[in-house]
Amino acid sequence: MDFHFSNEDKKTLKEVRSFIKAETTPELIAETHKLGHIYGGKEGRRFIRKFASNGWLTPNWPEEYGGLGRSAVLNAAIREEMAYASVPVVFVAAHMAGPVIMHFGSDEMKKEWLLQIARGEIEFSLGYTEPQAGSDLSALDIRAVLKGDRFIVSGQKSFNTASHVADYHWLAALTDPDAKRYHGMSLMIADLKSPGIDIRPMTTMAGWQTNEVFYNDVEVPGKNLVGEINHGFFYLMSALDYERMYPLAAYEKVFDMIVKYAKETITGGQPVSKNPIVRQKLAQIKIQLEANRLLYYRLAHMVDHGQIPNYQASMQKLFATETAQLITNTGMEILGPYSQMKEGSKHAVLSGQMENYYRTSVVETIYAGTSEIQRNIIALRGLKLPSK
Ligand SMILES: Cc1cc2nc3c(=O)[nH]c(=O)nc-3n(C[C@H](O)[C@H](O)[C@H](O)COP(=O)(O)OP(=O)(O)OC[C@H]3O[C@@H](n4cnc5c(N)ncnc54)[C@H](O)[C@@H]3O)c2cc1C
Repeated sequence: MDFHFSNEDKKTLKEVRSFIKAETTPELIAETHKLGHIYGGKEGRRFIRKFASNGWLTPNWPEEYGGLGRSAVLNAAIREEMAYASVPVVFVAAHMAGPVIMHFGSDEMKKEWLLQIARGEIEFSLGYTEPQAGSDLSALDIRAVLKGDRFIVSGQKSFNTASHVADYHWLAALTDPDAKRYHGMSLMIADLKSPGIDIRPMTTMAGWQTNEVFYNDVEVPGKNLVGEINHGFFYLMSALDYERMYPLAAYEKVFDMIVKYAKETITGGQPVSKNPIVRQKLAQIKIQLEANRLLYYRLAHMVDHGQIPNYQASMQKLFATETAQLITNTGMEILGPYSQMKEGSKHAVLSGQMENYYRTSVVETIYAGTSEIQRNIIALRGLKLPSK
């Protein structure tokens, strides 16, 4: 096992860091924060198109599809740099849908979509959840009926983040309602500007906008079907496994901020960092950050060996997001009552960032499958315990 990046990767990471430093503007940071680190806003698109022209959005993809033919480990490291720098880091098309198209899509589909995705020219949003189907995605109700060379789609999605800024919907829909469980669903790409689509905002406690998306007899070209008809549930599971590769660096930055605060703040005549309870808590988080790094890079290593991470991705997503919550909970304790003050308050410490991250971290253990669902997956697929 090699715990070091190659010299070539170190050089690329240095270039990525310099690029981010030179090109990041206050407007980009503000937009990224408002959108919950997803890609699709105006500033994000300006930044990412230039960033992606170096092949850095999909460095592990083949050159013919806009990549550099390098490793998924490099991709994972670049994502950590982006998360730490607070620029967009959630890419549905490049890091969730794209790898599924690469594995299961036809050659025509790869030619049509992958290059545009790698260049950051288009973004997708995830169209999985419905009001009656969140954790249990086999309970979808939205229908796609094949008529000639197109599907006609009707129904409703909920909690579809980024649909208000993305170009296309990575849509899971029922194509055979009479089939047995898991065997009647298909995955397809719908243009979010299509007539009959209505997008309505839902605002989360993190302040991020997610959306309801209504389909009213919407036409989706048949050629936008991913892989085979009625095999969608299995592709969707793979897309979720890619989604669950979670770069934790945004919260590592929060941790660094808390450590700095503990070192520099004097209470009761001595630095907060001398408090034994504070030291114990910070040390525990440091262990978890290191352990998470190993879980995270193991996933990239698996991708480099031609595997789709499976329950291992659930382990990392669960561990990373629960560590994120440990960091923000600990931050609230260490900063004390002033941690609750919002940005703009004269009483706020660290410019009110702590309460914001605290609210944000709550939703992390819900999307891409709740922690309970990740544990179920680890029990079923990892430990081979019988299904309930
Ligand atoms: C901020 C945010 C962004 C999101 N973005 C998207 C998006 O872009 N696209 C998209 O399609 N969806 C998105 N979602 C939806 C998200 O994936 C679902 O909310 C999540 O999967 C849980 O589904 P649910 O809300 O229906 O909860 P439910 O499935 O109703 O679960 C409620 C509770 O029961 C528990 N539970 C459910 N089933 C089990 C079980 N079998 N065993 C043990 N416990 C169980 C859950 O863990 C949870 O605590 C987003 C959600 C949030 C909060």
